Amino acid sequence: MIYHELGRTGITVSKLCFGSLTMGPFQRDLTPAQGAVLFERAFEHGVNFIDTAHIYETYPHVREAVRIKPDVIVCSKSYAYDRAGAEETLRTCLEGIGRDYVDVFLLHEQESIHTIRGHREALEYYIEMKKKGYIRAVGLSTHYVACMDGALRHPELDVLFPLINKNGIGIADGTTDQMLEKIRAAHELGHGIIAMKPLGGGHLIAEREACLDFILGLDDCVDTIAIGMQSIAEVDYNCARFSGETPDPAAAEELRQTKRRLLIQDWCEGCGACVAACHNHALRLENGRAVVDPDKCALCSYCARVCPQFTIKVI
Ligand code: SF4
Ligand code: SF4
Repeated sequence: MIYHELGRTGITVSKLCFGSLTMGPFQRDLTPAQGAVLFERAFEHGVNFIDTAHIYETYPHVREAVRIKPDVIVCSKSYAYDRAGAEETLRTCLEGIGRDYVDVFLLHEQESIHTIRGHREALEYYIEMKKKGYIRAVGLSTHYVACMDGALRHPELDVLFPLINKNGIGIADGTTDQMLEKIRAAHELGHGIIAMKPLGGGHLIAEREACLDFILGLDDCVDTIAIGMQSIAEVDYNCARFSGETPDPAAAEELRQTKRRLLIQDWCEGCGACVAACHNHALRLENGRAVVDPDKCALCSYCARVCPQFTIKVI
């Protein structure tokens, strides 16, 4: 496994960050004990970094990881914008993961310099808690080029967690090249960079090799890459790739044969853009939300490209 310092935080992280959303109730719905088996395998391969968030509902899983490896680096995020919300979300995190500190705590899904300003009170609280030792690094996560641009003017943000992949799937307001330009600028300024969704939230799985080559090729400006994993085969495969080794053919074959499906997450706003984009007529609106007919869905991902909320995933 390759390791990098996360910007100038003094925190050394594995190049592969274990994204825990995929094992939680919104996706694979593994029990904490089942999740622990995956974490343990990843730790054996040298992974030392786990990503979670207030809304993922995977603190019980991460707690298991902390039990197995007490010094595991943990990143979490919250949507809090004021002091009360910030206090509550940090307390929930620390109680949830069973530790008196969290390594990285971020403002979740920021959109621009305006939303960063709008969350100032929460950020100030997290910075205060950093000084007291409850948080080691603060920052934000984002799907927006504009937000990365805004973050360049906030040196107090230790860590930035932008969405980036070869095809730009999920970047809300720009292209891969535009996001990359901001990532490079941020990294040069000393912000730690965690890349998210290198496989486009599952939509680029058919191009897995090219996507991993792309993201691993950004070693000059990306410190670590978060990938959601939900099976031993995925853990083995990704750990091998991130260690510069050839993955076990059996794990690679199991991944190729894994049945996938479209998932429309709870925060769908029922705008209907995906329905219009689906030439297979696999989507419809029902009670104000998009619903997929799995028999008609070809997993082409055209719908995901037009969703303003990045609500549609392949799992
Ligand atoms: S993945 Fe393709 S076929 Fe499936 S619902 Fe989306 S657009 Fe339609
Ligand atoms: S495009 Fe996204 S937000 Fe709009 S209906 Fe489809 S899934 Fe929901």
